[in-house]
Formats: sequence, C-alpha cells, structure tokens
Amino acid sequence: METPAIVQVTKLEKTYRLGNLTVSALRGVDFTLQQAEFVVITGPSGSGKTTLLNIIGTLDKPSAGMVTIDGEDITSMKDGQLTKLRRHKIGFIFQFHNLIPVLTALENVELPLLTAGIKPKAARERASLMLERVGLKERLSHLPDELSGGEQQRVAIARALANHPKIILADEPTGDLDTKTGSEVVQIMYEAAKRENASVLVVTHDPVVEDRAEKLFEMRDGMITRASQQRTPRESYRLRAIEPVPPEPARSLSQPN
Ligand code: ADP
Ligand code: MG
Repeated sequence: METPAIVQVTKLEKTYRLGNLTVSALRGVDFTLQQAEFVVITGPSGSGKTTLLNIIGTLDKPSAGMVTIDGEDITSMKDGQLTKLRRHKIGFIFQFHNLIPVLTALENVELPLLTAGIKPKAARERASLMLERVGLKERLSHLPDELSGGEQQRVAIARALANHPKIILADEPTGDLDTKTGSEVVQIMYEAAKRENASVLVVTHDPVVEDRAEKLFEMRDGMITRASQQRTPRESYRLRAIEPVPPEPARSLSQPN
C-alpha cells in the first residue's frame, strides 16, 4: 500500500526568458514523492532536473502548474511562509556541499539548527549525533578543507538531516566524487534518511546513485519520459516508458515569432 504523498507535482511548467529568447525548462511534469522513499531522477544535462528540484525546494517559482508539500500548496505561499517551510521541512544536498569554510564540521551542522530556533545545547547534541551517524565522530572540530571530498559530503548529509526534515533534495550529490567514494556517500545518505523516515529525491546522471533508487525516473526535454516499477534497491530493473515518448521538439530554445 502506498503511504501518503509528501510532494505532489502537477502539470508543472517553467519557462525562462532571456531577453527575447524563451527556454522551456519544464513542460508539464507530474511527479509524486511518497513518505520515506528514495527516488532518483536521471536525465541528460539540460533536461530540467535542477529546475524541478529547485521548484520543489521553493528556491525557484514555477510558470504554471501546482506543487504541494505535505498537503500544502506552495505556489500560493508568501516568501516568509516559504522560508519557514524550507527551514523546517526540507534539507538540501548539493554537488559542492556548500559548507562554510571558517566553521568546523560540528558548527556547520549546528548552524541551521540554531537558525531554526533550537537551543544551543540541544543543537550541539543533535549535530554531534548526526555526524556520528555519518561516521565522522572523530572529525567534529575539523574545518571543511581538512576533510576529504567524501567526508565533506557526509557533513552536508548530516547538516541536511539535522533538523528532522521530511524531505531531502539532492542535486548531483556525487558529482564531485570518485565512484567508490560516491557509492559510500549514497549508502550513507540512504541509511541516514531511512533512519529519520525522510523522503529523498536525488537528481543526477551518476549510475552509482541509480543503483540505490527505490523508484527511478528519467527526464528528457523538460518532461518525465520514463519510470521504473517500484523495486527494492539493487534488484535489477528496467525503465519503462510511461507514455509514448513524445517527438523531440524542433528546438528547446525557441525564438518567439
Ligand atoms: P539539468 O539540471 O537537467 O542539467 P536544468 O534544470 O539546469 O537542467 O536546465 C534546464 C533548461 O533550462 C536548460 O536548457 C537550461 O539552459 C535552462 N535554464 C536553467 N536555469 C536557467 C536560468 N536561470 N535562466 C535561463 N535558462 C535556464
Ligand atoms: Mg542540474
């Protein structure tokens, strides 16, 4: 039985205007993320993955369509409400972890907790626990540049999960890592998220992440063109077209008139 949807995206469109050029980054995306599932969207560069992730993460606004998070329509929310929603319900992991270079691993994980109003003592305890869970118990007082790439990404995972978000959004989280480290980082992200009962959406073109997916989707030209059956990770699976793959648009970069 399917659990309730935590993210529901309906007929999502995004058009960027650059002078008199328009770029259709998303062209009618329907997508659901259920509670506590680990979903991966793959697709070539420019297919709209980051745009979709940023709209779900309320960092960007759609041109048309609807997005609900935990049952609430985010497209009509004011900036203050969006900031609150981001702070309490969403954790982000990016390709380049975005750790603050002058803060230690512990302080980097503490910071969003303090910003969210958690008391210092509780923030410190929670941050230490999260770093311990990603295997960095011995690295609490290291600065980011005293850590390896994989360790830095593990700090970013601890930081993203620290405030008990319902949703983790990750954009190319292994993009800067070698295959072995990438695979370890994905495993740690998977286990940490499961432990917190968080839903994870990763967008990537790294096969290492695909291997871990419970559901796998493929995007092309701003549309989700293929979806896998639900599966347990590491079972073999095959992507199936969810509708006849539409013909390639003449150009994804079109000039009006
Ligand atoms: P992906 O993450 O799959 O590589 P993106 O979502 O970054 O794809 O981009 C989708 C399309 O939208 C691309 O054609 C890209 O050039 C365009 N695009 C993305 N962001 C912007 C922006 N801020 N301004 C204009 N065009 C953009
Ligand atoms: Mg991208």
